[in-house]
Amino acid sequence: MKLKSIRHTDIAGKTVLYRSPYDIGVEKVNGILEVKDDSRIRATLSTLRYLLEKDCKIVVLTWVKRPDGKVVDELRTVPHAKKLEELLEHEVDTVDDCVGTKVESRISKMKAGDILMLENVRFHREEMVDDDNFAKELTKSKDLIVFDAFPQAHRIHSSTTGILRHLPGYAGFYLEKEVTALNKLVENPDRPFTLVIGGAKISDKIDAINNLYDKVDVILVGGGVANVFLKASDKNLGASYMEDIFVDKVKKEKKDWAKLAREILKRKPDSDSYKDFGVESKVLNPIDLVIGDSLSMPNESKIVGVGKKEEVVPPGWAALDIGPETANKFTEIIRKSATVFWNGPMGVFEDERFSLGSKAIVNATKKVRGNTVIGGGDTIEAIRKFGNVDDYSHTSLAGGATLELLSGNKLPALELLES
Ligand code: AMP
Repeated sequence: MKLKSIRHTDIAGKTVLYRSPYDIGVEKVNGILEVKDDSRIRATLSTLRYLLEKDCKIVVLTWVKRPDGKVVDELRTVPHAKKLEELLEHEVDTVDDCVGTKVESRISKMKAGDILMLENVRFHREEMVDDDNFAKELTKSKDLIVFDAFPQAHRIHSSTTGILRHLPGYAGFYLEKEVTALNKLVENPDRPFTLVIGGAKISDKIDAINNLYDKVDVILVGGGVANVFLKASDKNLGASYMEDIFVDKVKKEKKDWAKLAREILKRKPDSDSYKDFGVESKVLNPIDLVIGDSLSMPNESKIVGVGKKEEVVPPGWAALDIGPETANKFTEIIRKSATVFWNGPMGVFEDERFSLGSKAIVNATKKVRGNTVIGGGDTIEAIRKFGNVDDYSHTSLAGGATLELLSGNKLPALELLES
């Protein structure tokens, strides 16, 4: 996939609609709303500096969370504009809408190098249904689009696909960086390639596991995802968190994730490269677990082996982390890898007693000299807690879009940016 780049177009002096990835939650600090995490703003600074060098007028567009077509004061873009201003060291103005005469009048008064942050596009209910008239309104008074909204690129909304139907769009540097790093994993990863999958939910990761199956040498499974794989191996897991059945009420569809996990466990690998790691199967479930006497409020904890017996976790108890033997085995494998992609913590790392597994993966992955890619908000959080995100080749700041791309799916907005 080759995207049209801002480097290959004449943007000097143009009025740019900058589709940013600033869907970032806010929190009150000393009574003032601030963005919770500025990583996505930092990630866009190189694109914005380039546009400033080229004397562009920059009109910034984003959505923030889910106001569902209503004006919600706590979800205004003012804190995002303030943080951008601080990080870019350049004035950023705001306006309290994203379309209409007031906005157009403000744009008409902009000078080269001015930046105007539009209001949350999701205050308009037309946005989420990709209303074409609304999309056209969003593009009014601008010459072209610079698109950096990778975390939103899998959505079909007016501010993603819609605007790209009405104005020429070019990929910003942040979008290019994400797509290049993730495409490498899908298209030509350095081998051996280890996939580390954890977290609570299997639903959003199973397609990526299936698509990467033949591209990776070994798949290490932990967290709540491992619970489903263990269930698929006929283990009883007591009161453990288990996303095994999903009922989609809209599509009237029932999905059995344990069945899909069983199919993955039975799948025949196209090579036996996993044997080079001294293991007997491509997908490795935990061989031991740290369990607690309740899922939500554990008092006691202990380590149990998975072994051959059916009942691994006693009734009322829950698997909350991978055990120390599993952590050692996973560490050994990761250290021998040339590529590692990690998404999802190995346990409830927020609680010190169940953080050993995630800590072990942080320590192992940071020592890999090859290509290490991490993705998912909680994985990044775990790395921040136990290590340093700068130790990794690439940190993907998107959740759904990253997994969609790794699942081999086309991202609708990216298709409109392809050269
Ligand atoms: P996800 O968004 O699916 O990657 O899930 C991240 C969350 O999974 C984190 O907040 C962890 O606390 C949680 N998690 C990891 N392992 C387990 C487990 N064994 N049981 C319940 N929650 C877990």
